[in-house]
Amino acid sequence: MRIDELNETQCREILSRASSARLGCSLNDQPYVIPVGIAYEEDYIYVFSTMGQKIKWMRSNPKVCVQIDEIKSQSDWVSVIANGEYQELPEPQFEHERARARTLLQKRHHWWLNAMAERRIRLRDEEIKPLFFRIRVSSVTGLRGTEAE
Ligand SMILES: Cc1cc2nc3c(=O)[nH]c(=O)nc-3n(C[C@H](O)[C@H](O)[C@H](O)COP(=O)(O)OP(=O)(O)OC[C@H]3O[C@@H](n4cnc5c(N)ncnc54)[C@H](O)[C@@H]3O)c2cc1C
Repeated sequence: MRIDELNETQCREILSRASSARLGCSLNDQPYVIPVGIAYEEDYIYVFSTMGQKIKWMRSNPKVCVQIDEIKSQSDWVSVIANGEYQELPEPQFEHERARARTLLQKRHHWWLNAMAERRIRLRDEEIKPLFFRIRVSSVTGLRGTEAE
């Protein structure tokens, strides 16, 4: 088994083709990690969401971490970690960015479904508050695991 570091270009290529990720945020020394759908473009990771714990926490502490991986087997995988800052995209001032987020996210079929379906367990549709946010990526690191030759 061999593990190599990925350079920044390789990390960003992997981010570009990712459609889901683990998003980590924290508040008062308590980490919180959740799966989300993502789309990455030019230093930003875009996410469609609804109001809840992660949004409240990221509003209080915008420093976040995103992890993605492509695991084919125990000895054939890549993992990328991006650190960055939460930025909400409210209307009307972020109209252009919201449209871009929607365009990028909708390349994935039913991109809105997981965010909405989870919320529908507890709320009626008219009570759900959808929103877009993005993460400005400040640093990336990556590792690739391969079978040793
Ligand atoms: C494959 C996949 C893709 C998803 N994509 C998106 C997406 O693009 N956008 C989006 O907003 N959400 C997505 N979700 C749902 C997401 O993981 C959260 O469940 C949801 O966003 C609610 O988060 P919250 O912090 O607002 O939870 P809240 O409803 O405020 O959480 C209350 C409590 O519920 C528990 N909880 C919440 N979510 C989870 C969870 N996923 N697993 C276990 N316990 C949980 C936690 O203990 C939390 O403290 C996705 C889930 C999966 C599995």
